[in-house]
Amino acid sequence: MAENAQQARRQVIVVGAGPVGLTAAIACKAHGLDVVILEADPQDRVRPGSRAIYLHGATLRVLERIRPGLGHAMAGKGLVWPTRRTLFAGREVFKRTYSTEPRDSSGLPHFTSLPQVEAERLLHQTCAELGIQVIWESPVVGVETSDEGVRLQGPKDQLWQADYVIGADGGRSSVRTQIGVEMEGSRSVNSFVIADVSEDPDDPLPLERIFHYQDPSVGGRNVLLVPFAGGWRADLQCLEDDDPEEFSQGEGLKRWISAVLGPRYAQRITWVSTYQFLQVVAQSLTDAHRRVLLVGEAAHLFAPFGARGMNSGVADAEAAARAISAAITSEDPATAARGIDAFSDERRGAALYNRDAASIALNYLQGKQLATRLRKHAAAFAARWWEPAGKWLDTAPYGPTSAPPTSAGRY
Ligand SMILES: Cc1cc2nc3c(=O)[nH]c(=O)nc-3n(C[C@H](O)[C@H](O)[C@H](O)COP(=O)(O)OP(=O)(O)OC[C@H]3O[C@@H](n4cnc5c(N)ncnc54)[C@H](O)[C@@H]3O)c2cc1C
Repeated sequence: MAENAQQARRQVIVVGAGPVGLTAAIACKAHGLDVVILEADPQDRVRPGSRAIYLHGATLRVLERIRPGLGHAMAGKGLVWPTRRTLFAGREVFKRTYSTEPRDSSGLPHFTSLPQVEAERLLHQTCAELGIQVIWESPVVGVETSDEGVRLQGPKDQLWQADYVIGADGGRSSVRTQIGVEMEGSRSVNSFVIADVSEDPDDPLPLERIFHYQDPSVGGRNVLLVPFAGGWRADLQCLEDDDPEEFSQGEGLKRWISAVLGPRYAQRITWVSTYQFLQVVAQSLTDAHRRVLLVGEAAHLFAPFGARGMNSGVADAEAAARAISAAITSEDPATAARGIDAFSDERRGAALYNRDAASIALNYLQGKQLATRLRKHAAAFAARWWEPAGKWLDTAPYGPTSAPPTSAGRY
């Protein structure tokens, strides 16, 4: 239940108990900060779908750093699929199986495939272990910042005060709106229908990530299939003049799931949603008084190709906690403000980098340019005898594999 009247002042209030807000609170606790989370939803909410399933090794390492054991716990619950496979119009153009063993001394895998709901469950469990309170049913509707700190207002005159606030309240962030920061960017042209199905435990499918260009079983649309712990993500790219509703409900939905995964999976659909992806970044990740720090989808939204959303949100969260810790221990307000600015510049730079990378993947998939379409066809032809062409087709849908530069420890 929401708490009434004025609450004790905190060093840090995190707004939003999504994966990024939970991570931010854990990172603050690792710095010894007094932190609490305000969440709009009730505690018994049901979060939709699997959403983020691909967690990069770098993310697991951040989680392990801020709470020893947490990265390993995520990896232990997830799975690493060993095989990457790509087809073009019904013909296999690439297939390779890789070792799933960890590639460095951390013992953590280079990625794990875990539904976001499960990742959030582990993050909540960690918060409970650390004594981090989540105050449910507490939507923030007003934000007032000054050189001294932040006042947050709830809908029934609740008032909270903090030295610093981390805005982790998602794509429609009230915190961002309240501090007057706008998003800049664009939206994808094509729609994507994304469905989760549960695995058939009696006869599981082979653990392969499959991309099928122009799959003839679904009228030549592109299809991505990704296994995760307990199920599969199926992603259908609609053609530009498709009505996505035809593929996201009833018989239309069952028909394409049945075509790409097999008829038994048409009965195992657990979630479906239709997207046009926003590719937007906040103009600034802080306010005029350098007291609010925006992280995760409150700061940026990307198309999911390349899995840069939650992964970069976790990096934002760690950086925000580090910047606040340095600001709180600094005796000079100007130095403290400069540190928050450095956070904003660095993580905004990372967000722009990630947006550009996701745009490369999105433009490639939408295939608007003739040159891109010709390259795909030429590569599919050449892949019959030249493996690098198939490998290019296999990696291109996810955009560049590089990560944005960071300057850990600068603030
Ligand atoms: C189909 C799909 C696939 C994806 N796949 C991947 C992937 O593989 N890898 C990856 O890294 N990312 C992926 N993403 C992105 C990932 O899901 C998001 O980046 C992630 O959920 C963002 O987390 P967040 O904590 O910033 O925001 P959210 O998860 O939106 O959480 C925000 C929280 O704030 C709360 N809130 C909102 N307003 C208020 C308020 N006024 N006051 C208090 N609380 C409030 C909300 O109730 C919510 O709990 C995918 C997304 C989609 C849609």
